Amino acid sequence: MTTSQDIPLAIKPIERAAHRRISPRDIAVARGDPDVLVCLMRSGEPLIEGGQAGLATRPGDSVSGPQRPLVWLGPEAFRLVPEAPDVFLGEDRNGAPIFARDLPPDFSLAGSILEGLGDFEDMRAAAQVLSPLEANCVSTARSLFEWHRRHGFCANCGSKTQIVEAGWKRICPDCEAEHFPRTDPVAIMLAVRGDQCLLGRSHGWPGGFLSCLAGYVEPGETVEQAACRELEEEAGVRADPERAEYLFCQPWPFPSSLMIGLILPAESEEIRTEQDELEAAYWISREEAREMLAGEHPEFYCPPPMAIAHHILKAWAERED
Ligand SMILES: [Zn+2]
Repeated sequence: MTTSQDIPLAIKPIERAAHRRISPRDIAVARGDPDVLVCLMRSGEPLIEGGQAGLATRPGDSVSGPQRPLVWLGPEAFRLVPEAPDVFLGEDRNGAPIFARDLPPDFSLAGSILEGLGDFEDMRAAAQVLSPLEANCVSTARSLFEWHRRHGFCANCGSKTQIVEAGWKRICPDCEAEHFPRTDPVAIMLAVRGDQCLLGRSHGWPGGFLSCLAGYVEPGETVEQAACRELEEEAGVRADPERAEYLFCQPWPFPSSLMIGLILPAESEEIRTEQDELEAAYWISREEAREMLAGEHPEFYCPPPMAIAHHILKAWAERED
């Protein structure tokens, strides 16, 4: 049975060694550790070895051939743009500290010590060619750096905030408010009815591309309630939160969601997509779902295995009930 431990971006997660974040002195020592491992990001894109990764958008498309590694540097990485922020991600099996650094958008590889080592590449493409541990490192770093970019000022009093705890917290020097990286829960659901499941497409998606419906959990509701509310809002299909079945979840760094996967037995069939959110939604048979997963459907295709929607559809399509 598929669990959250099997879903990309959080498979084989890094040992976070959160106790090491607390002491600024220990983190300073860790930055100078000769065994330190540092990966680099720029505008949300990780630096990986080799040429362009290429984004596989359809199952069956060539992803990019062999797996490709992140570019890892040692202590010298901290001499690149010294004022650029970093986060302590954790440690490797031997206790070596691991950091990510966020280089500024105008940083150029040409002429730097990094020239010829690799390229900054689109996160979705990179995640498909990195090892599970490396994909976990850069998706964690991406969410944290994005949070820092958007939370430079105190939400309580408006003052400029400071990074503490090795990048895992910001504090306000004026009102002393503490700010923590946010993770937004999203219900992502497959409504099913007998031998059919409901897939939809948003405006602007490539032709033939269908996925599960999804929406943010609002204050005061459970993830099951959010899933049913979104299903009805987006497609006009009703379901009972009591019958929702939780499958697994996935941290999703675009910018920082936790995608919580559910199957919802639908209690109505008519689809109404008059709201702006969906362009169309369709009941798809289990056989068609299997064809989509295999990249063999003549008309439709679904998200690649990097995305939880692929695994939700697969979990249901492989059932015999
Ligand atoms: Zn404040």
